[in-house]
Amino acid sequence: MRNPHAGQSFTCSDEEIAEALLDVSIPTLMLSLVHMSGDAALIRGALKPAGLFLNEVQGYMSEDDKAAVRTLALDVIGDYRDRGCPDPEPVNGELLKEMMEWLVCEPVPDEYVPMLLEEMELDGRDSRAAHSSASAAARDDFPVVVIGCGESGLLAGIRLKEAGIPFTIVEKNAGPGGTWYRNTYPGARVDVGNHFYCYSFEPTDQWTHFFAEQPELQAYFQRVMDKHDVGPHVRWETEVTEANWDDVAATWTVRTRGVDGVESTLHARAVISAVGQLDRPFLPTISGRETFAGNAFHSAEWDHSVDLRGRRVAMIGAGASGFQIAPTIADEVEHLTVFQRTAQWMFPNPNYHAPVGPGVQWALRHLPFYGRWYRFLLFWPGCDKGLAAARVDPDYPDQQRAVSEINEITRMMFTEWITSQIGDDPDLAAKVIPDYPATGKRTLQDNGSWLKTLTRDDVDLVRTPIDHVDADGVVTVDGTRHPVDVIVYATGFRATEVLWPMTITGRDGDDLRDRWGERPAAYLGITVPGFPNFFCMYGPGTNLASGGSLIFHSECQMRYISGCLDHLIDGGHRWMEPRQDKTDDWVRRSQEEMRTMVWAHPSVAHSFYKNSHGEVYTLSPWRLVDYWAWTRVPDPDDFTFG
Ligand code: NAP
Repeated sequence: MRNPHAGQSFTCSDEEIAEALLDVSIPTLMLSLVHMSGDAALIRGALKPAGLFLNEVQGYMSEDDKAAVRTLALDVIGDYRDRGCPDPEPVNGELLKEMMEWLVCEPVPDEYVPMLLEEMELDGRDSRAAHSSASAAARDDFPVVVIGCGESGLLAGIRLKEAGIPFTIVEKNAGPGGTWYRNTYPGARVDVGNHFYCYSFEPTDQWTHFFAEQPELQAYFQRVMDKHDVGPHVRWETEVTEANWDDVAATWTVRTRGVDGVESTLHARAVISAVGQLDRPFLPTISGRETFAGNAFHSAEWDHSVDLRGRRVAMIGAGASGFQIAPTIADEVEHLTVFQRTAQWMFPNPNYHAPVGPGVQWALRHLPFYGRWYRFLLFWPGCDKGLAAARVDPDYPDQQRAVSEINEITRMMFTEWITSQIGDDPDLAAKVIPDYPATGKRTLQDNGSWLKTLTRDDVDLVRTPIDHVDADGVVTVDGTRHPVDVIVYATGFRATEVLWPMTITGRDGDDLRDRWGERPAAYLGITVPGFPNFFCMYGPGTNLASGGSLIFHSECQMRYISGCLDHLIDGGHRWMEPRQDKTDDWVRRSQEEMRTMVWAHPSVAHSFYKNSHGEVYTLSPWRLVDYWAWTRVPDPDDFTFG
């Protein structure tokens, strides 16, 4: 059978191929040429990328060099076509590593290679696929409930189906996608390149943008769900209200409530929570908020029945969501007032809104492993490099400004990006250049649309704190009244209240919310002592602030959970839970590590990562390669079984 990543065969003319090659990432193309020709010498000459940077997919190659590669490529691709597009011969491990290092212009340490190869699936094999060693009867006797059908819950469903384990997904929305179903606000789009931000085993050549907008993302999850036939397992528009562990029966009782208010109960041998951390909108306590007479809604609950044309709109909060909303609605509204408590750091990405050209789509569809290497090219610079810029050097001076030398360099680069757009405007500069270290909060991808919006005559940026809201406006603490017709709250999510508002009770009626308080923690972010057969995806300590993709993390977590389920079912166990000592050690080490990172640094006054004590329990401080290695196979010694 043809390797699915070798691409569809084609008979295009030389002219059509030449046209397509104008669009593509040239370094990525060269690696595809190596596969097509089997000729490694192609990457051992003078034509090569000159450097690596996030979202720089041409490797800084000169126009002359790119043209030379295109000429060369026409011969190689034409020959491949004329040979009938045969499945390329497998490439040996040594050459694959050479190809990786060539593409990213630096050594790729050995410890990363297996993870990257797995992520790229060059052998056409989904090695993260789940399987069960248990008998069909044992599996039938082990129903699982998954809470949520966003990217992680859908993945759980796909893997459970592969393993032949019966399951029900309970989803409060009417369709799949989670955050990508819910967040329909104008301008919603992903900020991780889509050719990486998709399941490793479900790439697509159909993205129309490199950073797709919400409808396209939601459609992707719908398509994947349909392909894997997970839909019939889902109870839509149904919310899990509580889940209680029954020690005698070794069963979870899961209570649900439909949109129609009808309550029901499911019984499961294991529960997988896949609700994520960015599910429940956060509305700030602002005096008089309820007295506002106009339309008011949260960014994640966008009221599309409200026509913004000709209206005066206040947007309270301007983090990742607000940053996308303001530029999108500015043309439509009569006047926009942005109330921003803290300025945000932005990563320059001029192609943030760029469409995927037909040439790139052609290459993804037809050129062997082009999409796989492109995925790697996006993954690598965002893999573990961001951690270095986020780590605090305790001896670095003036830590309100930067926490290390590399953090200072990042600050300078980001600051230059801002000042290059606003020219000599010290008043605006004072408002938009953050006063805390770069990367201290989640850095936003920016193509210039934010500052362009803020410099419009019909847009005001207000950094003065809000005193109160009244029937027809927002009043700041300096007494200024801002009359508005509509208020948009782009104030984020209750991210630190992991699993809220569900009630989860484990052994002896132990309530998970009471247990966690403001310090949610789970072994590897997945399992919790006292809560047998309960697994979290995108749980505490697994959000990513410096790079990677949550889908990658979810794939790691689900492989681990599948391994746990196999231990349970095949081992004939009734339950398993992580050892308290192992969990305590994990939490202690994670917190120690977290305290060395900028996200927990006191210079960042507040962020959705921090609890009221300024601690960070939601993020992972770990390298992706470590988390990948730790979650490959569950170690039975980390658990107690019953
Ligand atoms: P957010 O980043 O937490 O931003 C919330 C905004 O509300 C911030 O400006 C915050 O100010 C402000 N705020 C919160 N409480 C406030 C209060 N009491 N008074 C005044 N202002 C207040 O939330 P978000 O924008 O919804 O994004 C959350 C996360 O969702 C992102 O970090 C990202 O992980 C994800 N997301 C991703 C994308 C994408 O892929 N492009 C898009 C949207 C969201 P402070 O900064 O001062 O706290």
